[in-house]
Amino acid sequence: MDFSYTPQEDAFRATLREWLEKNSAEAFGSKGQGLGGSTASLLDVRDDERWAQLLDYHRRLYRAGYVALHWPKQYGGAGATLVEQSIYQDEVLRLGLPLYGANQLALDRIGPTIWLMGTEAQKKRHLPKMLTGEEIWCQGYSEPNAGSDLAGLQTRAVVEGDSFVVNGQKVWTSLAHRADWQVLLVRTDPQAPKHKGISYLLVDMKTPGMTIRPLVQITGDAGFNEVFYDNVRVPKENLVGEINRGWEVSIATLMYERLSGGTRHPVERTINELIELVKVTSFEGMPAHQHAYVRQKIAQFAAEARCLRLSRYRSLTSQLRGKVPGPESSFGKLFATELNLRVAMFADELLGAYGNIDEGLAAVEGGSWTHRMLAARGLTIAAGSSEIQHNIIGERVLKLPKG
Ligand SMILES: Cc1cc2nc3c(=O)[nH]c(=O)nc-3n(C[C@H](O)[C@H](O)[C@H](O)COP(=O)(O)OP(=O)(O)OC[C@H]3O[C@@H](n4cnc5c(N)ncnc54)[C@H](O)[C@@H]3O)c2cc1C
Repeated sequence: MDFSYTPQEDAFRATLREWLEKNSAEAFGSKGQGLGGSTASLLDVRDDERWAQLLDYHRRLYRAGYVALHWPKQYGGAGATLVEQSIYQDEVLRLGLPLYGANQLALDRIGPTIWLMGTEAQKKRHLPKMLTGEEIWCQGYSEPNAGSDLAGLQTRAVVEGDSFVVNGQKVWTSLAHRADWQVLLVRTDPQAPKHKGISYLLVDMKTPGMTIRPLVQITGDAGFNEVFYDNVRVPKENLVGEINRGWEVSIATLMYERLSGGTRHPVERTINELIELVKVTSFEGMPAHQHAYVRQKIAQFAAEARCLRLSRYRSLTSQLRGKVPGPESSFGKLFATELNLRVAMFADELLGAYGNIDEGLAAVEGGSWTHRMLAARGLTIAAGSSEIQHNIIGERVLKLPKG
């Protein structure tokens, strides 16, 4: 692995760093921090004011040409090199900012799926507004009885004239209450084997017959939703790929989702914040930063975070040598979200009873550690639970027999 950067790459980093520091501070306030705490999850956007700040930040990213460095120029992206993309990730995560402004799902997975498998008309209609943030996207995959076993989904669509008519229910749809468009997986052939009767639709969230009910999470935020479909008519031209072959399209989306999954958690920043916390906290009657147990824990977390970063660089090196990213991206997602959870749980242990107070004078740092601890578990479930990632690594990377 080559750790050196060219003078052009160093200059790119310096310009980007200066831009991010200035613009995130202007968009989000003096701390310059992207969202509540440093989980950088869109589910943490607690209120309309915070959402407006995020949209403002998104528009700034767009105007500066940073919003989609990884998209090809022909689709409105920056066509940046893999090294520039990696530098962008380093810098954004250092500040705890969201990687893709307000439109994470559009920019990291849905847009790329449309370049790969959409029609020319779909590319022309949707890609530009994803970039500007004029149209926010959400992902309607999971159902009450279809999460890990996604292919078991039951939301039904039948063809009537020039439309699909959709009936059923999705759940855990992040951002559905703020989104303008959705990618939706529906069953179009109930007689076919389960992976073969699914189709992939693009749905306008304002279509009559859709009801969106926010779900309140353990954090108290309402970032995801139940979505009900009652005779929702979706034009046939909104089908991506072929009818009944939507599973292949959905896999492309999941692949892009997992690729970004490990890189969007700013674990190193959270560990740095933990180091600041132990400097002002006591543990077992002594300053926490002098306690051997605390010091060992932090050293362990820091070493693991460094391994995570190095493993990202290793994957980058292999891509620079022309290899395609494989199921190893499951490792990044699994390791980053589990480490993030352990760091948050350790902060909770350190704070003792204060870890349970999330507002008022007794709340430590405005309750941000409490919020982080409560949110961290969800990140190990979203985009495929840790158990599912273990299965993928076991079967596809280590070639173990199927369980
Ligand atoms: C924060 C968050 C955001 C989300 N956002 C979205 C979204 O925007 N759109 C969307 O469609 N969905 C979203 N989801 C849903 C998410 O994809 C599902 O929660 C996830 O796939 C797990 O499905 P499930 O909840 O139905 O659990 P289940 O699949 O019922 O799993 C229950 C438990 O069983 C384990 N398990 C299941 N199968 C296996 C197996 N084969 N081997 C070993 N263990 C297994 C699981 O790991 C889990 O611990 C979100 C979830 C969270 C937490």
